[in-house]
Amino acid sequence: MKNQIIKLAKICDADVVGFAPASRFDKNDPLFKIFPNAKTVIGLGFRVLRGIYRGVEEGTTYYQYTTMGVENLEETVMPMALIRVSNLIESEGYTAIPQKISPLILNEKGTTNPEVDYVDVYHGVSQENQLNFLDCAVKCGLGEKSKIGSLLNEEYGPFIRYSFIITDMELEETPIVTPSLCDGCNECIKACPGHAISDDGKVDCWRCAVYYNGANGSKNPFMPPEAFDIFGQEKKMDIINGTAEFDSEGAKEILDNIYFYPPAKHFYRSSICGRACDRACYIHLEKKGLLKKTFKTPFREKEDWKLDVKQFEKKEK
Ligand code: SF4
Ligand code: SF4
Repeated sequence: MKNQIIKLAKICDADVVGFAPASRFDKNDPLFKIFPNAKTVIGLGFRVLRGIYRGVEEGTTYYQYTTMGVENLEETVMPMALIRVSNLIESEGYTAIPQKISPLILNEKGTTNPEVDYVDVYHGVSQENQLNFLDCAVKCGLGEKSKIGSLLNEEYGPFIRYSFIITDMELEETPIVTPSLCDGCNECIKACPGHAISDDGKVDCWRCAVYYNGANGSKNPFMPPEAFDIFGQEKKMDIINGTAEFDSEGAKEILDNIYFYPPAKHFYRSSICGRACDRACYIHLEKKGLLKKTFKTPFREKEDWKLDVKQFEKKEK
């Protein structure tokens, strides 16, 4: 049955499939609140196509990453794979519970998800009822947890998204990955255009939301010269340079003034930073020759580009 599941998952475009026995989870884990009879968690990992990042990397096309790399994977490819594999399990008389991340439901109060509009985020769900998706991915052997809390896979590095199926079918386990990729190089931290990641790797979700959405003028080809005029020249330039200080309320104010690029259809905000942190990590791992999936040319062949922010300064009359 395990081989049939892997075969079908791969037909449905999963690139990595892993199996965690329920014994890997603490007895208080949300897993057992969702399904007390759980025996196995099946992890399905889907690569985010390397070429989808190309447009942002070059500063040319931006829609592809959000629509193909986020929206279509999350809303089309993954649900289809989850349903088809779950159907296979249920056809054998076992229960299958698909688990896809809801980008709008967050456990921690006062937080946001940069991939969606903060006004749509819902904080009413208690932590006991949602899986810890990153923890599940690690337990299923899909990869290791990086310094900044992303999943690193031996083939695709940080270019991977994932979802799960909980079942009462017992399946042979996949070993947990021994961490070998993240070396604490901090390239991810340095690459963020909004300085949203602190030295210890903690991501400030509100800073991330502001700069994911494109508040740094040196990395946003769609920003008009009058952007953020409402904040006054000094604060405007601080925002554009990625150095402004703000709390969650300040972040909301800035986000309310970002209209530079349309969102994708299913509420996903367009990523203008293009996950610079993940791209920097990928480049680092590729340069070190640590990724098993190799390409004929390196992902980054020239120096990263930057726009001149002088265009946003007020001209003296
Ligand atoms: S760039 Fe990647 S390898 Fe380096 S610290 Fe960040 S997550 Fe780890
Ligand atoms: S690079 Fe983008 S996704 Fe990464 S922390 Fe910074 S703003 Fe967020």
